[in-house]
Amino acid sequence: MTAPGSAPTLLAEKLARRIRVDGPMTVADFMAACLGDPEHGYYLNREPFGRAGDFITAPEISQMFGELIGLWAVAVWEAMGSPTHLVLAELGPGRGTLMADALRAARVRPAFLAAAQIHLVETSPRLREAQAAMLTATATAPQWHAGIDDLPPGPAIILANEFFDALPIRQFVSTGRGWAERMVGLDGDGRLAFGLRPGATPPALPVGDPPPGAVVADSPAADATIAVLAARLVAQGGAALAIDYGYAGPTFGDTLQAVRRHRFDDPLAHPGEADLTAHVDFAALARTAAIAGAAVHGPIGQGAFLAALGIAERARRLAAGKDAATRSEVAAALHRLTHVDAMGELFKAMAVAAPGLSLPAFDSVPAEAEHPAP
Ligand code: SAH
Repeated sequence: MTAPGSAPTLLAEKLARRIRVDGPMTVADFMAACLGDPEHGYYLNREPFGRAGDFITAPEISQMFGELIGLWAVAVWEAMGSPTHLVLAELGPGRGTLMADALRAARVRPAFLAAAQIHLVETSPRLREAQAAMLTATATAPQWHAGIDDLPPGPAIILANEFFDALPIRQFVSTGRGWAERMVGLDGDGRLAFGLRPGATPPALPVGDPPPGAVVADSPAADATIAVLAARLVAQGGAALAIDYGYAGPTFGDTLQAVRRHRFDDPLAHPGEADLTAHVDFAALARTAAIAGAAVHGPIGQGAFLAALGIAERARRLAAGKDAATRSEVAAALHRLTHVDAMGELFKAMAVAAPGLSLPAFDSVPAEAEHPAP
């Protein structure tokens, strides 16, 4: 709900008009509008990243993150038999930092760079420009696509950091009289408010009786995305790496979350001006990928993933011979990316691949058991 006194955003007004005509909308439609509305959507207008923005992602914390993923991609390409044409794709590349760091690290294998055609899946024209500026130095110019269906065929390595958490979720609430879908409607004052639509069918449920008021979510968009990726990887070879915050097993809970200027916000308070995300249900993604015949690796904690790729050694090298300020910056980044109190466990890495392909990092770390999120 909008805080008393603060004016509704332009998108809040647009959504209220839509609700007056069409009735309450699902949380998924609300989330899609907040992030992707062509006039007022968050990713179309805002500068989300970095200290001046609303949040900082792993590639923006340190170059080590993208570099290690670049080396991971080189190793996967070699495990694929070093194909001479590789679709190297990233979904939701943000400012393009991860890809730029990955390609720099991949210079250790010129044949990889010669094989890799860069494909970026990005809906925001503004972010496409930022990505183009970041990737001017790459051997071949990147190509942009609005969706994964437009990616060209062929063996592929597909990267997605904090992409799936931006895909819309539906939410279902356990009431005394069965399940209901959580909707966004209007309260008596015409402001956006959550409500319930009875009789909705929730997705697969966690084991055990839901406590009253329990919330479960699913993401048809995430499921559809992973199904398409898995099918193409099975048919044409390669692997997709998804890193995101989320849970490894079915769980109850409302994880819809708004962040504005580095602080949590009420998801209904500033539509279009706050980033809106939800925890990724890795178990659901894994199920969908397996149905398509793909091998699922992980999920493992981001800390374990980066450790297996040698982040400690990379940090030592980056800091060696540097001044005290740089050394402590590298140490802080290492901590933030890998420590259990920071991004090390809440963030997880999962890969979906053609069966039989061996993937660095995943094959040395046991997958997390399915367990509820804390
Ligand atoms: N991977 C980057 C950015 C994460 S933010 C990083 O780690 O820093 C999410 C990114 O996904 C943004 O680039 C956003 O514009 C893009 N995005 C969100 N929803 C999308 C969709 N449905 N299709 C394509 N890109 C999308």
